[in-house]
Amino acid sequence: MRKETVPVARGDGIGPEIMEASLHVLLEGGAAIEPVFVEIGEKVYRAGYTAGITAETWEIITNHRVFYKAPITTPQGSGYKSLNVTIRKTLSLYANVRPAISYDPVVPSKHPGMDVVVIRENEEDLYAGIEHQQTPEVVQCLKLISRPGCERIVRYAFEYARAYGRKKVTCMTKDNIMKLTDGLFHRVFDEIAPEYPDLESEHWIIDIGIAKLADTPGNFDVVVVPNLYGDLVSDMTAQIAGSVGFAPSANIGDNHAMFEAIHGSAPRYAGQNLANPSGLLLSGVMLLVHIGQAEAATRIHNAWLKTLEDRVWTYDLVRKAKAAGLAGYTEVGTREFAKAVVSRLGQKPERLPAIDYRQAGFGFKPPQLTAVRNAAMQLDGVDIFLHEGQLSGAELGRKLEPLAGPEFRLVMITNRGQKVYPGGFSGTFCTDHWRCRFQAPDGGAPPTPAAIRQLLARLEQNNLQWIKLENLYLVNGKRGYSLGQGQ
Ligand code: NAD
Repeated sequence: MRKETVPVARGDGIGPEIMEASLHVLLEGGAAIEPVFVEIGEKVYRAGYTAGITAETWEIITNHRVFYKAPITTPQGSGYKSLNVTIRKTLSLYANVRPAISYDPVVPSKHPGMDVVVIRENEEDLYAGIEHQQTPEVVQCLKLISRPGCERIVRYAFEYARAYGRKKVTCMTKDNIMKLTDGLFHRVFDEIAPEYPDLESEHWIIDIGIAKLADTPGNFDVVVVPNLYGDLVSDMTAQIAGSVGFAPSANIGDNHAMFEAIHGSAPRYAGQNLANPSGLLLSGVMLLVHIGQAEAATRIHNAWLKTLEDRVWTYDLVRKAKAAGLAGYTEVGTREFAKAVVSRLGQKPERLPAIDYRQAGFGFKPPQLTAVRNAAMQLDGVDIFLHEGQLSGAELGRKLEPLAGPEFRLVMITNRGQKVYPGGFSGTFCTDHWRCRFQAPDGGAPPTPAAIRQLLARLEQNNLQWIKLENLYLVNGKRGYSLGQGQ
């Protein structure tokens, strides 16, 4: 088989040790890959590259379809950008795939039989990183969810479930509160699910869904979630399955993919030949499956399972075993663990289920996205946000009413989303940040951008400080904005 060149980052902290151990197992296990080592992380940050990566390394990574990465240390301080977020977004790695499996009865687990794959949307949501201080009292973070983003991740989750012979896909959102953003994610899930009649599908509100997932993970199979929830859910599932030291992850896009353990660089354990290389090794197995080397992936994964089963363990598992009163294990270091896996290549586990990736069809392309760019957007009003620290909601309302002019009427004022004018409850706590909604009066002409500019000018003339505005649209005739709480 022709060898595939793979950029490899040894990373920081325990990174170099676990990468060396993982590569040793992968290459001995028959992976037809040629590592090309690249430098990223702490040293590069400290050399003045705020994203932790140089232009030369970027070029190498973008010229290859996969990237194998050990954890890195992000230096403390506000000037440094997360390298992971940069890589995911630049390469459009929209799907973060995180399997969480318990290996009972071999490794003690609170959840025997757990086998859940979390598929986390990787590019959107609050991770857009668009934050602003709006007033002395109020800051904001924009949550951006797009239809193409939802379609790609939801379809990926169903395709993944099908490719890996899984039975059910569960979507979790908070769309009872965020009806537009999380609502879109849920709606797209409901639109796409019927295209996969061979798979069961369900939706849970995330609060109760995550509680059930933590309590009875055996009832879940593939779980698809927006970015922030996915971050939380996947660490939780990795932890309750047994150990974060085991957990691999794949960041998948249409043209590129990055594979890494979910844990960090654990600097306290660096250079001591102690760390468990399993998470990174299993990420390497996912990489092999992704590039079509299912046979080597199967051989390596089964040898790893057999090593686990033979109770040849690194310190983290030994610590667990001791706590559970288990005996009969051999404690080994990172290097010795890798050698133990290599010596079992060709063997299969006997008590744990063996793996066969040769059945899995992977590397599919998501189909065409629904075209919505031509949707009719009709201006239906404007939300103007004001910084005002002296007036109450009622006083502000009375001041604004006459300024609305003939083109608008003041529909409501909210403070942190709660309606305080007209009406409102005198005990509602208010900050210095007010959202004032203006729409056409009954029977009036639809608003125009020019009318909004004139309205802003009237506010300025009356010493009212507007800090931002959001246009309100009807999209194909349907309201494209939320109502105020209490409106
Ligand atoms: P961490 O995951 O590095 O370590 C937390 C603890 O988990 C360790 O103290 C150790 O007890 C255990 N642990 C983690 N990996 C292990 C392994 N392979 N074997 C045995 N035990 C293991 O988290 P942290 O201490 O919060 O972060 C350390 C650094 O890692 C930070 O600089 C952080 O920014 C970075 N980080 C990087 C990545 C990444 O590169 N993908 C991810 C998370 C954190």
